Amino acid sequence: MGRRKIWKNKGIRVLMIVLVLSLSFPVYASSTKDKLSDAEQDRKDAKSRLEAVQEKIQGLEQLRNDAKAYIRAMDEELAVAEDNLTDLQEQTVKKEEEIAQTELELAAAREVEREQYESMKLRIQFMFENGNQSYLELILSSESIAEILNKAEYITQIVDYDRRMLEEYKQTCEEIEEKEAKLVKEHEELTDLVAQAEEEKAAIELLIAKKAEQLQQYEAEIARQEEELDELEEDLAELDSRIADLEEQLRRENSRVIYDGGQFLFPLDFYYRVTSEYGWRIHPIYGTNKYHSGIDFGAPSGQPIKAAYRGEVVISEYSSSAGNYIMINHGNGLASVYMHCSKLNVSVGQIVEKGDIIGLVGSTGNSTGPHLHFSVRINGEYVDPGPYLGMY
Ligand SMILES: [Zn+2]
Repeated sequence: MGRRKIWKNKGIRVLMIVLVLSLSFPVYASSTKDKLSDAEQDRKDAKSRLEAVQEKIQGLEQLRNDAKAYIRAMDEELAVAEDNLTDLQEQTVKKEEEIAQTELELAAAREVEREQYESMKLRIQFMFENGNQSYLELILSSESIAEILNKAEYITQIVDYDRRMLEEYKQTCEEIEEKEAKLVKEHEELTDLVAQAEEEKAAIELLIAKKAEQLQQYEAEIARQEEELDELEEDLAELDSRIADLEEQLRRENSRVIYDGGQFLFPLDFYYRVTSEYGWRIHPIYGTNKYHSGIDFGAPSGQPIKAAYRGEVVISEYSSSAGNYIMINHGNGLASVYMHCSKLNVSVGQIVEKGDIIGLVGSTGNSTGPHLHFSVRINGEYVDPGPYLGMY
């Protein structure tokens, strides 16, 4: 019981100290720094998530490419299988034609055989029925034995001829029948091969269909991941601008200079004319209605640019839009900006006095000709610089 009470008292004491500290020190100083480090951590997290998604997309793209290559290879195999099938089907048709032809041959041969048989039968019948008479006639009409023998021989030869012819025709029929049987067997084999080729073709088509389905899934997943990538890139851009804002806020809070409310010096000794006013205008390059954050003074290139007031240089660098540009923090949230310089004479951290030459007029960045773009910022917001320069 006693122990718990001590803990409780300690807790209250810590809380009290924190409260007193937070009341006696400006809260924003540490909180901007905390916000900045939080934002930087968020940025790091978003970046690593983004990299993970990019890696995932790469992996999916590899799978997609593999699937595409597989389908290409299978398409080739399918073409070969289709050729094979067509070839076999043509062979089958040819074989069927051969069989039909052979059947015609067989029918013709059978007809010849039948006719031969019929005529032989007639001749034998005739000889049988008129046997005696013909032999008698043979004898009576013959003038010698030699002639009889000759004629008798002739009759025997006729019977022999008939028998021989009949056997020959029968054999022809048998040969054609054998040929037909062989063709029918070959046709059966071909039919089997066609069935096999059809199965093979169907199997390849199934593999292709399955892989195509997988490919679609990869494509869909890639699209999903790319959407996530876009979102993360948006988050990253937002965090970048938030970090930039916080950095500027921090710079203001840690300002080494104080603005005493004095009048700005005109930053140029000479200029031709104001080429663009502060505020909304049509952009000369893009033709879009755009907000113009400062006043453009057309001036010869190389003309010295002077610091409008005492302050600390917080930016002196190149950007694709502002070109070589300088930002001077004058303290109390007030800053001046000088864009499109041909040369930068100052560096970040440097304290400049009112009238110091900080750079030269140029046409760097998004610019159509040599000019000074002069902006004034209060607490990070652009305001009309005209009154600061005593122009109106
Ligand atoms: Zn401008």
